[in-house]
Amino acid sequence: IFYRTMSTQVRNALYDMSILEVDVGGNKLIGRAYERLFDGWERLDGHRINIAERNDDPNAFKYREVVLPEFDVGDELRPLEITTVEGHTKTPPRYGVGRFITTLDNKGIGRPSTLDTVIPNLEKKKYVKVAKGMLHVTQLGMDVNDWTTEHASWLNDLEESKRFEEQLDAVEHDKQSRDELIEEYTKRVAEVKQALGYQDMSERPPSQNQLTFAARLAREAGVTLTDEDVRSAASISKFISKYKKPNQEIGKCPVCKTHPVVAYEKVYQCTNKECDFRVWKKSVENFLERYHPEYQDADALVTDMLRRKKTRMDDLTGKNGNRFSAYYAFEAREHGNGYGISRVGWARKTGGTKHE
Ligand SMILES: [Zn+2]
Repeated sequence: IFYRTMSTQVRNALYDMSILEVDVGGNKLIGRAYERLFDGWERLDGHRINIAERNDDPNAFKYREVVLPEFDVGDELRPLEITTVEGHTKTPPRYGVGRFITTLDNKGIGRPSTLDTVIPNLEKKKYVKVAKGMLHVTQLGMDVNDWTTEHASWLNDLEESKRFEEQLDAVEHDKQSRDELIEEYTKRVAEVKQALGYQDMSERPPSQNQLTFAARLAREAGVTLTDEDVRSAASISKFISKYKKPNQEIGKCPVCKTHPVVAYEKVYQCTNKECDFRVWKKSVENFLERYHPEYQDADALVTDMLRRKKTRMDDLTGKNGNRFSAYYAFEAREHGNGYGISRVGWARKTGGTKHE
């Protein structure tokens, strides 16, 4: 700080710089020469002074001139020696965490407020693994990239992403209509959903399980199911959650194996204060909506899953509308974010029993 402060009070350094361009069979070679005419503030360059002192080597502070012999334009140079050297281009290294973020930032993607969450998000979605500060793309990451490149290139096109950020900025500064932007992207998302064979819960008819359960609840509550209630899987789900008794114990905790799990309005939680078993209802509902397993609602699914270590689910709907069977279990989420439903194995399509 001392040297920096002092050097601001000193004149500029002055250099004489020459550039030599040599034409070799049409290729241009460039050499630069520097001669310092006046050292100015550089005499107080603290960094160099420190190095010189530390190494006890006054030469470390010595300025190294690059001097070229004198030439005239058009002079012919005589080669002293000609050798061939074999060279290899190096494979570019993997992105490090820091360089990846800097690269995004340089490309105009992301804002300081969102850049921090980029890598944790990629990890959470299992698109990359971070090992020793380097990003390793997973097979899933490559598959998703291939899919989006083919079906929704706007999702992984750098220029498009940059344009989207600019559109958000424009909305913020009242230079673009928010509604138009939402409409544009709603359309795009709808196209992606169509390509995935995704069916909205609000468009899907209710399942037989849901109808039976809702009818029982309606009987118990002394109400009648309306046409609107049974219109879709979403509407009947709403009816069920309205009439079901709240805060019920729905099974034994799979973690501490002693206390019961209670279904609260938004979360399934172990009643043992020492135990961290907790599943967000929303995440179960997302699972229902994504794979369409045969359960009337989230409570029914969790109740069933709490009965055994892993639960077989049949006739699930995957992306592209394909059907599959698999085993699921509750697994701890990262960052202490409770537990979630994870696929723990595939099941052969025997059409057999649901239970293991
Ligand atoms: Zn527990």
